[in-house]
Amino acid sequence: MNVAALKSTLKSAVGPAKPFDDNAFDNDSGSDPDFVTQMRPARERISPVVRSLPPSGIRRFFDLVAEMKGVVSLGVGEPDFVTPQHIRDMAMYSLEQGYTSYTSNYGILELREAISDYLEHFIGNVYDPRREILVTVGVSEAVDLALRAILEPGDEVIIPEPCYVSYKPCTVLAGGVPVVVSTTVQNGFQLTARDLEPHITERTKAILLCYPNNPTGATLSYENLEGIASIAAKHDLLVISDEIYGELTYSGRHVSIASFPDMQERTIVLNGFSKAHAMTGWRIGYAAGPSDIIAAMVKIHQYVALCAPITAQKAAREALLHGDHEKERMKNRYDERRRLIVRGLNEIGLACFEPKGAFYAFPSIAVTGMSSEEFAERLLQEEKVAVVPGNAFGQSGEGYVRCSYAASVDNILIALERMARFVERHRRI
Ligand code: PLP
Repeated sequence: MNVAALKSTLKSAVGPAKPFDDNAFDNDSGSDPDFVTQMRPARERISPVVRSLPPSGIRRFFDLVAEMKGVVSLGVGEPDFVTPQHIRDMAMYSLEQGYTSYTSNYGILELREAISDYLEHFIGNVYDPRREILVTVGVSEAVDLALRAILEPGDEVIIPEPCYVSYKPCTVLAGGVPVVVSTTVQNGFQLTARDLEPHITERTKAILLCYPNNPTGATLSYENLEGIASIAAKHDLLVISDEIYGELTYSGRHVSIASFPDMQERTIVLNGFSKAHAMTGWRIGYAAGPSDIIAAMVKIHQYVALCAPITAQKAAREALLHGDHEKERMKNRYDERRRLIVRGLNEIGLACFEPKGAFYAFPSIAVTGMSSEEFAERLLQEEKVAVVPGNAFGQSGEGYVRCSYAASVDNILIALERMARFVERHRRI
């Protein structure tokens, strides 16, 4: 068939060209004029599972902050540093070289190799870069993939609380059931084997750990890690270990639960670049774990994300290969601010447990007798300081607020001064 004949065949198959009409779908059936009006009620348009999820307590709060001027924010869990220059340069260079394509679903091999070397050095485990490491769109995606890869409907996931805001919703979206174990200031917000074991049932599939912790800043002692590892082995549980703050520890090195005997085969380690390398906007993280689980995670990832952005992958490799100095510099700054804020909060009467990692202080607001939401909202309205109500991290966070010290020393000092005034005015005990 020649080109003209082909064109005419195609034309008759497609019909005459029509200008695009926004209403084209409104009454396409032609025969049923009620077609348009038979719209599902708004409630039914959204899946019941999604409807059941509460909006993130943090977001709701930041919508309020966004409308105000002159606010000093200790709210966002995000470094106040920009990504180090050499990392940005590498990203720009990769673009100049024309790296703009998709990558392997697993991520570029050179990055996976760098991650493998890093993990061997950092947590002492050897991961095969070809089968045991997956590069993801932030740790956020990795949490979701890990849960979806392992859960059957009704499977239970044990989550120590207070906890990062995505864990419970992602568990529910994956068909699982979050089982909360409260941690308290009395045990340094650490999960202990003793607290954990009574929550295990026949349906328990995994424990989701986050140490160093958001929002409390707690780390797990060696004994507690050991105790949890032995419970996981005893009950044949998987562990999802979100170690995104692993580089930000201020007294002693981070220890991963995956480094305990026989734990590598039952642990999915999640980590990323957002916090330690100040790369939140690049959206890059990774999972390292047993090859069957990583393969299952890749199955989902290839359909929903395809791959992490190539520019971010190039930048992340640079961060791992040459980013130690800058990482250390930022960590030292956080440590100075940590000491400042913890001392300041305690002095103004908000008893503050000493955070050993991450960049959050989690003071008790008991002296004011307010709920955490009331405290945060009134502090914002009256003194223009933004902190996050503790109940955004689950009921176990009630009675506390999260103050991020990923903020400048000047801002921390202003915030402390304003908070001191606020507490003075509202102190009940
Ligand atoms: N996990 C924890 C504990 C976090 O605090 C955060 C961000 O605040 C994330 C995961 C999300 O990290 P990412 O930017 O890599 O998606």
